[in-house]
Amino acid sequence: MKRPTVLVLGAGYGGLATVVNLQKKIGTDDMNVILINKNAYHYESTWLHEASAGTLAPEDVRYDIKGVINENKVKFVQATVEAIDVDGKNVMTDAGEFPYDYLVIGLGFEGETFGIQGLDTYALGIANVNAARQIREHIEYQFATWSLEEEKDDSRLTIVVGGAGFTGIEFLGELGNRVPELCKEFDVPKEKVRVICVEAAPMVLPGFDPELVDYAVSQLESKGIEFSIGTPVVEATPEGVKIKKGDDQFEFIKAGTVVWAAGVRGNRLIEETPIESKRARVAVREDMRAPGYDDVFIVGDCAFLMNEEAGRPYPPTAQIAMQQGVTVAENIIALANGKPTHKFVPDLKGTVCSLGEDDAIGDIFGGKKVTGTTASFMKKMIDNRALYMIGGVPLVVKKGKFKFF
Ligand code: FAD
Ligand code: NAD
Repeated sequence: MKRPTVLVLGAGYGGLATVVNLQKKIGTDDMNVILINKNAYHYESTWLHEASAGTLAPEDVRYDIKGVINENKVKFVQATVEAIDVDGKNVMTDAGEFPYDYLVIGLGFEGETFGIQGLDTYALGIANVNAARQIREHIEYQFATWSLEEEKDDSRLTIVVGGAGFTGIEFLGELGNRVPELCKEFDVPKEKVRVICVEAAPMVLPGFDPELVDYAVSQLESKGIEFSIGTPVVEATPEGVKIKKGDDQFEFIKAGTVVWAAGVRGNRLIEETPIESKRARVAVREDMRAPGYDDVFIVGDCAFLMNEEAGRPYPPTAQIAMQQGVTVAENIIALANGKPTHKFVPDLKGTVCSLGEDDAIGDIFGGKKVTGTTASFMKKMIDNRALYMIGGVPLVVKKGKFKFF
């Protein structure tokens, strides 16, 4: 019997979890498993706010894919996916074409700018390792230039963060610690620096526990971070951002750095396929297959799933992406053996949002609230657990976070 070819696109949390769980369960001759990813490394998207602020080196955020796959069972191809032909069962990349029997699309998230004028050109996004490096270096460049210029433009030292969701807040937490270091490094008086978070909704971290939100805001404010709430960004220019303050009222914030952290969408390649999607996220069937395509699975941020109990979609998170990878691996093996697939059931363990190196807020295990160093410890344990699930103890030892307090 012909061995089925399983093509996994993207070595993010969902794609890698699929491959690692497949390789645990199959024999060397059972399937041709091919993993395709743009880079030879996986990056921890959940740590990108640290690399962006400069509190973690970009190389610490990533690890080699070949270090966590079993090359007797999985072939890794470094290539950029250019198109997906789901009717012809073929994937086009810059390294050639790859036909498949089963496809797993795990191409991850892209920043969503909602068509707001100027954002694509003038704002920076926390999208991947090199984008994070660019943000860090851009901020450093602004500080260095301010120090050197004779007629000083203080707006160089203003950093606007668009969006007070988890990404925005985690990035602000890192900036709160990084700005004093930058001031020291570049001879900049601290009072010259402004970090302003602009949020469209009437509250920070919309929908999260209000007590924990209050804690986060007061901790960030104590580090000098300003909040402009209920004031959507409506335009970005080379000089800064325009925000809406009332029905017909606008304000312009002059800023040397604008970081856009106001939401995500799925990978645009999805929109070029006939698979139905909304903001490149596919409302998957309960076994994680795409509607209308029995041989196509979607994992991670490209998948959309409703939490019927809560009456709202599950948020696109690494936590869920990794759990989906486990189910997708099991369902591919089931299909290859002519057996029925099973339903993906998320096991939500809660949310912990960091506020810098040694502070955090968390709503865990169905309602337990944690703050401060306890929450920060939990966040690092979660980070280490994610490494463990992909690469076991060796990866935790190599990349884990051990500075707890
Ligand atoms: P991704 O992690 O986005 O990976 C996609 C992969 O596909 C990448 O390797 C990419 O290089 C590759 N790829 C993309 N396009 C192509 C192409 N054309 N060809 C080849 N390869 C390609 N979630 C949590 O659960 N907990 C957290 O604490 C948390 N913190 C976060 C902090 C930040 C700053 C951000 C931005 C997100 C955070 N998230 C968190 C959300 C989480 O990171 C995402 O839900 C998760 O990364 C989605 O995983 P994924 O497998 O879908 O894809
Ligand atoms: P998000 O969608 O959760 O938050 C985006 C925020 O931007 C919202 O508060 C929204 O009101 C605001 N916004 C939208 N348009 C705006 C505008 N024009 N002007 C100003 N503000 C605007 O997006 P995110 O924070 O990037 O998170 C993406 C996903 O990643 C979520 O599922 C989140 O749960 C997950 N995540 C989790 C963690 C964690 O668990 N610690 C950390 C980061 C991200």
